[in-house]
Amino acid sequence: MDPFDRGGGRGPIRPVGGPVPGVGQVEEWPDGDWHVRRVTGAGADKVYRCPGCDQEIRPGLPHLVSWPAWAGGEHERRHWHTACWRNRIRRGPGRSRY
Ligand SMILES: [Zn+2]
Repeated sequence: MDPFDRGGGRGPIRPVGGPVPGVGQVEEWPDGDWHVRRVTGAGADKVYRCPGCDQEIRPGLPHLVSWPAWAGGEHERRHWHTACWRNRIRRGPGRSRY
């Protein structure tokens, strides 16, 4: 079973909002549900590499962190430019999306 193939039949409305305060929100994407947490960049002192554009996310730059909402997804956290995250699903096939 392909974990990305969720099939149809889901209603348009489902409760979201993590059970853990401060963890961010859950977004629905064609490849599944993702936790997304915005990072203001304030106080950041680390450079991350965005998997969307393969460019650095400099300290102090607001961006976001996402990880899959399915089991084991908490080990797949990635830091993204906000725009790159939004464009993630339009990237070509065969490329890693996280
Ligand atoms: Zn990027």
